[in-house]
Amino acid sequence: MPEQVTHDPVVRTENVQELADDVVVIPNGNVQLVPNIGVIGGRDSVLVIDTGMGPGNAEKVLEFAARYARGRRLYLTTTHFHPEHAFGAQVFADEATFLVNRDQAEELNAKGPGYLDMFRGLGAGVARQLEGVELPRPDLVYDQTYDLDLGGRTVRLRATGRAHSRGDQVVEVPDADVLFTGDLAEAGQFAIFPWFPPHDTDVSGLRWLAVMERLAAESPRVVVPGHGDVGGPRLLADVRDYLRLLRDETWIRRDSAADERTIVEEVSALMIQRHPEWAGREWIEKGVGCLCTEHPA
Ligand SMILES: [Zn+2]
Repeated sequence: MPEQVTHDPVVRTENVQELADDVVVIPNGNVQLVPNIGVIGGRDSVLVIDTGMGPGNAEKVLEFAARYARGRRLYLTTTHFHPEHAFGAQVFADEATFLVNRDQAEELNAKGPGYLDMFRGLGAGVARQLEGVELPRPDLVYDQTYDLDLGGRTVRLRATGRAHSRGDQVVEVPDADVLFTGDLAEAGQFAIFPWFPPHDTDVSGLRWLAVMERLAAESPRVVVPGHGDVGGPRLLADVRDYLRLLRDETWIRRDSAADERTIVEEVSALMIQRHPEWAGREWIEKGVGCLCTEHPA
């Protein structure tokens, strides 16, 4: 997270968007460091996906979810451990069962405190939202996949393996053909590579590309990205194609022994030309850096 943030990353629950019967998203309104938050209902239970950053945001999400649930039991999961996705889970402790994949739980334990410090340095608004954060402990941890029965509807949680982070997972609502991707996919911005050597080098461009090839092949009807507008299968294909091109253009220059500075400049110019409307141009350089280390030579 190299850039300073001047706004308060605040979740707004006024413009909830219905995606299918009893499946809604609290959209991020294209506000940086606010995630798209999913709420999925069954006959007996309701699952919330992601908390927003810090206890204040999570309280708003919990309040919305409790109202939405109308007495149904609450579950919470998070797509990955990053602060705007998971650092509000403490608020749900007595209200919901918190379940995640094992890799994510371990990554949160290992890297949570460091990310809390790093994000507090991003700006006053972010620091404000992170006041009083306690890193949560999941109630339930699964290994590869978990089928959560909400009553008449089963939601599938799947660990994807290391990609955008060490412990990403996606959440699928099979009967409505909706997929929540977390930061594996974004709409309207370049893929976020949290590549911060030597502190964090867990993101893998190659593994991420492999994950996107699989997800794009599944072609779900509705795709909810980590940030940005809800879309369809094209959104997954766009991220796949971007990662593939980023790899190819980086490696072709690596093959001809260009230095990393030149590679960054040339590849960034090319990617911006390809996607002039996408935000987050600073992430291209991080992606190039990551893919340089994944070059086979
Ligand atoms: Zn993330």
